[in-house]
Amino acid sequence: MQLDFGETHLAPEVGRVRATVLVWAPEQQVAETIEASLVGVGHSVRRLEHDADLATLHQRHTLLVAQCGPRLEAQQAFVRGPLILVESGCKPSDALAARAYAVVAQPAEIGHAVDRFVEHRQLAAEVAERRGPPRRCSRCGRGFDALKARGPGTARRFVRFGAIALCGTCVEALRTLLRQAQTQVAVVEADT
Ligand SMILES: [Zn+2]
Repeated sequence: MQLDFGETHLAPEVGRVRATVLVWAPEQQVAETIEASLVGVGHSVRRLEHDADLATLHQRHTLLVAQCGPRLEAQQAFVRGPLILVESGCKPSDALAARAYAVVAQPAEIGHAVDRFVEHRQLAAEVAERRGPPRRCSRCGRGFDALKARGPGTARRFVRFGAIALCGTCVEALRTLLRQAQTQVAVVEADT
């Protein structure tokens, strides 16, 4: 009996996750050190050039690495996504520090702080994934529809087996395969 799980992604992601990180640092030297530190640990960098970029380019899911200073303080109301601060000789205000995932003293230390953030977020996403409803059938790829799952019929009901979620149709198909396999075993046993 062969169970075809097709093109599924059942194996957990192994290895490092690389992120694109926004970097905002008014001092060229600081910006370059931050960039080198991030690229050194495998992340890619997008440098923000203007103060207004803080408001327009920093989205909810992108991490921003920003150098502390009056220009960042002035823009902080517009900074909405995750944030890591680089002091580089200038302490952040309490309000800004409270918003940050981490505050590092030197630009050269940023690579490890970003690594920790990315790992942390990855773990949080995995936990959320396990708690939430299944997204699609691991065998046929049928999407999970919470409304239809509550309706009559079993085809739209999903069953979870650890990390695998199967739609009702696939569960039924597997049951049939199992029954056939058992029948074959029974026939072989009867023959001997
Ligand atoms: Zn299915």
